[in-house]
Amino acid sequence: MTIGIMGAMPEEVDALLPFLERDRPPVSSGMRTYHTGSLWGHQVVIVHSRMGKVAAATSATHLIVEHEIESLLFTGVAGAISPDVSIGDIVVARSLLQHDLDARPIFPRFEAPLLGRDRFGTLHEETAALEIAARTYLADDHDNAVDSEFDISSPRVHTGLVISGDQFISDPQTLARLRVDIPDALCVEMEGAAVAQVCYEHGAPCLVVRTISDDASHGAEIDFAKFVDRVASHYAVGVTRRYLAGRPASESAPRSAR
Ligand code: SAH
Repeated sequence: MTIGIMGAMPEEVDALLPFLERDRPPVSSGMRTYHTGSLWGHQVVIVHSRMGKVAAATSATHLIVEHEIESLLFTGVAGAISPDVSIGDIVVARSLLQHDLDARPIFPRFEAPLLGRDRFGTLHEETAALEIAARTYLADDHDNAVDSEFDISSPRVHTGLVISGDQFISDPQTLARLRVDIPDALCVEMEGAAVAQVCYEHGAPCLVVRTISDDASHGAEIDFAKFVDRVASHYAVGVTRRYLAGRPASESAPRSAR
C-alpha cells in the first residue's frame, strides 16, 4: 500500500523529506519532483504540487497513474471561514467542494459537471484516524512557545467541509459571501477539492488536513513564510507522523522503519 503525500507549499514538503528513508533517487516530471521511500513504516511518494486547483489535480493524477499510490494525504494551510475556526486550529476534511465552480444554468452551482455531485467525501475510518492524530499532536507535541507570536490560543481540531478555489480569500466581503453561500464551510484553500475530485474519479481514498494560517479577511497582514516555517511545517510533520504511526505498517517498508 503506497500513500501519496502532497503539499502546496515547498516548506511543508521539505520538512518531511529528512525523515524519508529513500529507496531510489527522486524522479522529476512535469516540473515536479517525486520522492519515494519509507516514512514512519509506510511506503510513500512525496511531492510539492504547487498552489492552485490545476497544479494540485495534475499532481494527484500523476501520483495515482504513474506512481500507483493507493491513497493520498494532502497537508497544507487554509483560511478560516467558520467563526468557530481560529488561527492555529487544524481542520480535517470530511468533504470538499469547489466554491468557484459555477456552470449554471447547465448544472447547479458548485456541481462538478457530469459527475452529478458538488461534494467529494473522504474515507470515514481514515478521516477519524487523521483527526485522532491531529488531536494527539496538539495535546502532546505542539510547541506552545510559538503560539503567542501568532495569536494562537488553545488550538482545536475541527472536522467537516473544506472549500477550494483558485483565489486567495483575504477580504471581509468575499468571506461574508462565502459564509452565506456555503454555511457549513469550515475553511478555504486552493487545492483540496480538486485533489478530492481526482481521487473520486480514480476510486482512491483521499485525506486533507489543514492548519489555519489566516482569517480569510486580512491576508496582507500575515507573514506566510514565517507562519509556515514556525507553525505549519511542524504541524505537517507532527500530524503526518502520528497518522502514519497509527496505521498498520506497509508490507514493503523495511523492518528498521517500523
Ligand atoms: N504566496 C504567499 C502565500 C500563499 S498562501 C506567500 O508565500 O507569501 C496560499 C496557499 O495557502 C494555497 O496553497 C492555499 O491552499 C492556502 N491558503 C491559506 N489561506 C488561504 C486563503 N485565505 N484563501 C485561499 N487559500 C489559502
